[in-house]
Amino acid sequence: MTKSTLLLLASASLAGTAAAQAPTAYQASARAIFKELIEINTTHSTGSTTVAAEALRKRFLAAGFPAADVEVVGPAGSKNHNLIVHYRGTGARKPVVLLAHLDVVEARREDWTWDPQAFTEKDGYFYGRGTSDIKDGAATLVAALLRMKQENFRPDRDLILALTAGEESGGDYNGVAWLLANRPEFKAAAWVLNTDAGDPELRADKVQARMVQVAEKVAFNFQLEVTNPGGHSSLPVPENAIVRLAGGVVRLGAWRFPVHMSELTRAFFARTAPTESGQTAADMRAVAGAVPDPAAAERLSKSAFHNAMLRTTCVTTTFEGGHAVNALPQRARVNVNCRMLPFESPDSVEATIRRVLADSLIAVKRSSEARLSPPSPLSGEFTRAAEAVTSAMWPGVPVIPYMETGATDGLFFRNAGIPAYGASGVAIDPNDVRAHGKDERVLIKAFDEGAEHIYRLIREISAGAARP
Ligand SMILES: [Zn+2]
Repeated sequence: MTKSTLLLLASASLAGTAAAQAPTAYQASARAIFKELIEINTTHSTGSTTVAAEALRKRFLAAGFPAADVEVVGPAGSKNHNLIVHYRGTGARKPVVLLAHLDVVEARREDWTWDPQAFTEKDGYFYGRGTSDIKDGAATLVAALLRMKQENFRPDRDLILALTAGEESGGDYNGVAWLLANRPEFKAAAWVLNTDAGDPELRADKVQARMVQVAEKVAFNFQLEVTNPGGHSSLPVPENAIVRLAGGVVRLGAWRFPVHMSELTRAFFARTAPTESGQTAADMRAVAGAVPDPAAAERLSKSAFHNAMLRTTCVTTTFEGGHAVNALPQRARVNVNCRMLPFESPDSVEATIRRVLADSLIAVKRSSEARLSPPSPLSGEFTRAAEAVTSAMWPGVPVIPYMETGATDGLFFRNAGIPAYGASGVAIDPNDVRAHGKDERVLIKAFDEGAEHIYRLIREISAGAARP
């Protein structure tokens, strides 16, 4: 594709041109892989990632990859195995891992307009479970490697494709955790490209921002509990377990952790500001400065997402108590779910919770492990490549680093000391996020461009001196 064609593509409305042109050979190949993946059931209840991994394995073997470099692996007895493909390079640089998961969240036919297990094309979109989370990402990685192989491209480093199981909750194990524990090449990687995050942002069907996930908040839970001897409800006493705990829950609910900026969140707000307007743009610049402006932070905090970027959050998620309608409660218990900024410490979060509760009769226990995941460096090979490919494909579109408020498999790598960059090629409209939901879909034009973007990105990170 010529540069001028690309410029035209980038400035055209993505949906408007979708139906007009026949797909190129590469687009057709990427779409066929995508279709095959969507039509293989990889839910936890009735599906199997092994079936999807085996189907892709056939494609790699047919393309000429040595059988020893295309493996379907996982714990014995699981129906959910992972695909690993080694694309051998010259070894001039350390290997890079290319990551997506194969499993998908359950989808019921009766809840959808179309069969979630079918690959449905309609009005410029592809519909089906996994079209945006994250079989699109898996398909673009596979299509790119097969194209590079066909072009006899020799990377200057090994590229290790890992399409994994158990990312969505409900799996019997997590594929990435298993690979890190069982396959030494993953721990030896320079860094990871994870397509399960960092969707380029679509607004009015045009790419506005190339998001890159460089960090994730750290999730863990506390159990708060009050116990009491109880008794007959006809004879109440001043001390009541539910009332006592409720007081603490209300104090915690009113508390907000302080704004805590880092290099990453400053970069996020500074680079997002030009894509916003008015007060929001001004506030983003004001929090990105050396001393964040408190009034600006306050206004930004009205957005749940910006609030979560600015501070650690802890929220009460479940409440149980009492054992009979005619008894004084002997026990009251809540779960508090914390999402900690990755540069803070769980101990200090716990100390803050105890201080805010201010009640020694409320027992505080950490009920789940905090898997630390330090932010990946903002600058370096990946960022340079993302900037080069973005400005070539989508001129003027900013590359914006951000912190995931939820969690992806990137955290297992970061926890093991390996930087991870979440960057999908397939753009999504933030107002049309249907992952895990009904009628999940992706814009066909965005998928086609995503396949091209990922192909160029992988070449850019592995071309070394051989780059044309
Ligand atoms: Zn996902």
